[in-house]
Amino acid sequence: MSRTVIIEKPGGPEQLKLVNRDVGDPGPGEIRIRHKAVGLNFIDVYQRSGLYPLDLPHPLGMEAAGIVEAVGADVTHLKEGDRAAYAAMPPGAYSEARVMPAAQVCPLPDGVSFEEGAAVMLQGMTVEYLFHRTWPLEKGQRVLFHAAAGGVGLIACQWARSEGIELIGTAGTDEKCRLALNHGAAHCINYRSEDFVPAVQALTGGKGVDVVMDGVGKDTFDGSLDCLKPLGMMISFGNASGPVEPVSLLTLAAKGSLKVTRTTLFTFLADHERCQAMARHLFEKVQSGDVKVNIGQRWPLEEIAEAHRALEARETTGSTVITL
Ligand code: NDP
Repeated sequence: MSRTVIIEKPGGPEQLKLVNRDVGDPGPGEIRIRHKAVGLNFIDVYQRSGLYPLDLPHPLGMEAAGIVEAVGADVTHLKEGDRAAYAAMPPGAYSEARVMPAAQVCPLPDGVSFEEGAAVMLQGMTVEYLFHRTWPLEKGQRVLFHAAAGGVGLIACQWARSEGIELIGTAGTDEKCRLALNHGAAHCINYRSEDFVPAVQALTGGKGVDVVMDGVGKDTFDGSLDCLKPLGMMISFGNASGPVEPVSLLTLAAKGSLKVTRTTLFTFLADHERCQAMARHLFEKVQSGDVKVNIGQRWPLEEIAEAHRALEARETTGSTVITL
């Protein structure tokens, strides 16, 4: 049996229910993993609220680290007893143990703790594809990165510094701005006390940035287009403030032949080899010290509703770990 958090209908944090479930044995292409730590991510909120619909009832949670307990037929990259971590579909990581497809589960290097693995896989592989697989960023280029003191944000600040990218962050309090600056942001704008569009224009001498990486969505999308250079790249990758409204292609022409993409990590992870390579690249960054995993807060599994409430209320910084 495994204590597991499920939802039976979409809604607020009160819909998160802790139940006991049978775990079972892995079939072909699957493993059974016993979790040591679980990661909390904003996608969990979208799945809980129904913005990203699931077939219900369904367990939640997209990220964890632990020990492989059993391996099904055809799984060759993992064996019983291995330390492992993942960011993967289907949801079900809010649990003590589970059976799941093995393809997106990755070996966890000895020097990386279970808590670090659970905190960094989803947000870290997101930064990996944003910086290396979405648009060819070059040293010296400028990126505007929203919510720079969040989970993805603090990893992005450090990653940018290590690659010679000038990252202009935004964050919701002066304290969060200081945190982003301490993690490698070149500048940080408190976008709740200051309009970030003129601030970015002033910081760039009116030129604008090469790329925007926007996980905030509705509240920042339009302003972000006004921060881009002509021919600039808008990468929209989240909806923390709500989903982005439809945008006219003519707007992109009028604002300087801009490019826009809406990415999701799971497209990049769908290929097994690419997923494993992304995880190896991330762990190289962690083990070299370029990226330090910043666990801002922890909640036990039984307090998962409180963890969701705090994440949605903008009370968290860095990554959040759910303890078992
Ligand atoms: P964060 O830790 O960054 O938390 C979200 C942050 O967004 C908040 O702390 C807050 O920071 C900011 N925010 C701005 N407006 C709101 C609002 N109205 N409600 C709540 N938060 C708001 O979360 P994650 O690091 O887990 O994820 C960041 C974003 O990236 C999310 O949108 C997530 O879905 C997305 N994402 C997308 C992926 C993809 O591949 N598409 C993969 C991973 C994450 P502040 O107070 O500083 O404004």
